[in-house]
Amino acid sequence: MTPIPTSIVVPTVGRRSLSVLCDALAEQTRPVDVPVIVVDDRQDGPDLHLDAAGLDLRVVRSRGGGPARARNVGWRIARSEWVSFLDDDVVPDPDWFEVLAGDLELAASGVGSTGRVRVPLPADRRPTDWERGTAGLAHARWITADLSYRRDAVSAVGGFDERFPRAFREDADLALRLGADRGTVVAGARRITHPVRPADDWASLRQQAGNADDRLMRALHGPDWWTRAEAPRGRIRRHAATTAAGLAGLAGLASRRRRLATLGAAGWLAGTAELAWARIAPGPRDAAEVRRMVLTSAAIPAAACWHWLRGELAHRHAPPWRGLPDLVLLDRDGTIVHDVPYNGDPALVEPVAGARAALGRLRERGVRLAVVTNQSAVGSGRLDRSQVDAVNARVEELLGPFEAWYVCPHAPGEGCSCRKPAPGLVKQACAELGVDPARCVLVGDIGSDIEAAEAAGVAAHLVPTPQTRPEEVAAAPRVAVTLSAAVDRILRGDW
Ligand SMILES: [Zn+2]
Repeated sequence: MTPIPTSIVVPTVGRRSLSVLCDALAEQTRPVDVPVIVVDDRQDGPDLHLDAAGLDLRVVRSRGGGPARARNVGWRIARSEWVSFLDDDVVPDPDWFEVLAGDLELAASGVGSTGRVRVPLPADRRPTDWERGTAGLAHARWITADLSYRRDAVSAVGGFDERFPRAFREDADLALRLGADRGTVVAGARRITHPVRPADDWASLRQQAGNADDRLMRALHGPDWWTRAEAPRGRIRRHAATTAAGLAGLAGLASRRRRLATLGAAGWLAGTAELAWARIAPGPRDAAEVRRMVLTSAAIPAAACWHWLRGELAHRHAPPWRGLPDLVLLDRDGTIVHDVPYNGDPALVEPVAGARAALGRLRERGVRLAVVTNQSAVGSGRLDRSQVDAVNARVEELLGPFEAWYVCPHAPGEGCSCRKPAPGLVKQACAELGVDPARCVLVGDIGSDIEAAEAAGVAAHLVPTPQTRPEEVAAAPRVAVTLSAAVDRILRGDW
């Protein structure tokens, strides 16, 4: 049996349903022999311990960045051709993994494959408003509850847009950026069950926060985004009318204009009654549900407008999502460790201030790190290669592991193609690590680092030292005062 070229990525906030999912994966008809990457998005608390016999389970943390960031950390860590996202509250059918194999073959010419979602509803009564909302998942397109994407396609667009703070619209946004509305994502045959989670009386009110996310969708994909995303058009216009009537009524009351007060109140009541009835009519109509619908319907229009306004302020001019680079290349001497000319002595290695923490912030997000360094002392005979390797090993001891080291051992006169400012080392790093130069950044301390990066089609950040010449600083596309500041800019998507 050829292995399925995917990894399973499960973002979680530590819900109990996660162990149900793990059990279901451990008991598949075709054994799950691909990595299962669980991204724990809780801010703190002890590490998750999951017991799922036979699974290649890896738990990493994304520390409260939200579901979009958790998924980004997951696919960045995965090294497979495909990435299969599953939510932590679904239960795959026993043959899910077996059917996934065929689904991915079927999607070979596209970028994605969706699973089928089943939402069990009570058989003995009509579903509540909340249950109908969950049931809507069964017909929604491209939801990440069960969705596989090609890793390189996701990487090319910077992954999920982390400005979507909750599990809402971030899936449709990525799908549109991957051309799903032009048929690049095909429907698969595998199935999951998505149970209706218990919810308190005010859940529908809290969901109005999604109006801010809708505003972001509009900024990113234009006013007709909901047609392209095949999303039902929300009630925001009606909510605005109801809220305006309510405000007019209050204004009439405050200014003792009776007619305005009466008209406003009547308008607000009519809008609220219409909303309440639209939510009550299809449901079980029992006392608890009617009470819940009446109370929340009175508050929903104003809450929806408030969140829409919040989105308007936050997202009106939102630029396209850039995300993080896949790979950060670092110069060694003067950039991550202080420059000791022709150093062959590991004892003299001293990291620049804040280097370990800054590199840790990149590693934690799944960004790959490698070093590109000129060591002409080897070519000129001052050092042998084993001394350079010993120094590099000391750098790793102090700063954590790098995925690869690219060292030019040649002297300046040798005319090699790898010594920076030639782009050879940078090109080699991208090629060997399988990273598109357009998704790579180099950080260095002198002009030749920047020139090498630019000649290889890689973005560059200069972190000058007192030895950096002023004209090199002036010529650099991006300058940061410290390595840590450069990393922060990269993490903000500014690279
Ligand atoms: Zn060289």
